[in-house]
Amino acid sequence: MSIKGSCLCGTVTFAVTGQFQLAGNCHCSICRRSHGAAYATWGIIEPGQFQWTAGEDSVRHYETSPGRTRCFCQRCGSPLATTHNGAIGEVVMGCVDDAAGMAPTAHIFVGSRAPWHDITDALPQFDEWPPGMEP
Ligand SMILES: [Zn+2]
Ligand SMILES: [Zn+2]
Repeated sequence: MSIKGSCLCGTVTFAVTGQFQLAGNCHCSICRRSHGAAYATWGIIEPGQFQWTAGEDSVRHYETSPGRTRCFCQRCGSPLATTHNGAIGEVVMGCVDDAAGMAPTAHIFVGSRAPWHDITDALPQFDEWPPGMEP
């Protein structure tokens, strides 16, 4: 079983072996700005589950905090993944080709959510990382 994904223009594709360990909606200011959205939905993976399957030379990296870089397509700008100390640790669920059966299980970094966005579902909310979830 693998999860496949791609950027908006299709230049960059990726695959994840197995399943996401966890999935969550992140409301932090970095996710909000880099996605241009109220929050970003991430699938959290173990190092080694991820590989670029096409267009890796079009992937650009932007370091948002020490040891963490955001990976995005240089052509269309789609955010795709985040590295933790050099290994991909989070995948953008919005770029997964067929996300049937996947669902986020929590809202994280709710302490810095956009003031214009109300969370109206019943998922648990955490001000930052839930205990034990930080990759
Ligand atoms: Zn692209
Ligand atoms: Zn975030």
